[in-house]
Amino acid sequence: MLKLSIHHLTIFRSRALFVICFFSLINVTGQSIDKNYLLGKFEPSEHLQFVKISDEHGQGSAKGGYLRKETYEAFVRMHDAAIKDGVDLIIISATRNFESQKRIWENKWEGRTNVEGINLTTIEDPKARAKLILLYSSMPSTSRHHWGTDMDLNSLENSSFESGKGLKIYRWLTAHAAEYGFCQPYTSKTGGRTGYEEEKWHWSYLPLSDHFLEEYIRTVTYKDIKGFAGSNVASSIEVIRNYVQGVTCIKK
Ligand SMILES: [Zn+2]
Repeated sequence: MLKLSIHHLTIFRSRALFVICFFSLINVTGQSIDKNYLLGKFEPSEHLQFVKISDEHGQGSAKGGYLRKETYEAFVRMHDAAIKDGVDLIIISATRNFESQKRIWENKWEGRTNVEGINLTTIEDPKARAKLILLYSSMPSTSRHHWGTDMDLNSLENSSFESGKGLKIYRWLTAHAAEYGFCQPYTSKTGGRTGYEEEKWHWSYLPLSDHFLEEYIRTVTYKDIKGFAGSNVASSIEVIRNYVQGVTCIKK
């Protein structure tokens, strides 16, 4: 009798797990992505779909950081394949929620962190000030790093990927990252892409991020981009069209 109960309990558990997995799948592939998720207004460490990055894979701000489970699993497969070719991929920035992006943005906006060697409080025009930050940093609510799908690898300098060890890493990524679902969203702008400058370090897990981008474009409006210094210029510089949509990675 006891055995039977345990057996039933096991069946119940696996059914419950199936139901949870099924609804998670709907969340990813269906229409019901919570807008606050797309805007980064959640805590990744408390989100059931997120996992912690191991110390083997994460350094700097990604040490102890989080990614979507699917993103991290795909990264680990890519990392293990790269190691066999003598390439060590290290995550140096992973999920950043609204609050974390707000700190980065406001440090620049309020002159605590210089941008291109300039203290931005010396720039009077708020649109010009925002555009300088937007060379490489997103406005809070508009970053792909909110989604747990995007990560910065190895270095935050394009030049470090242009020779030696960095060039070997970049060549490996451009040749193989797509096999694991990853894509570089911010490539050279010579082809007419708008938005951020090229970022050879930023890679996105397209099976999820493509869907989140679609949902973002469908549901987020300028009324949703608020709660930080300079947020009132978001609509005049068309940050959604020019930056959020200014990406190379779009699933065919
Ligand atoms: Zn990035």
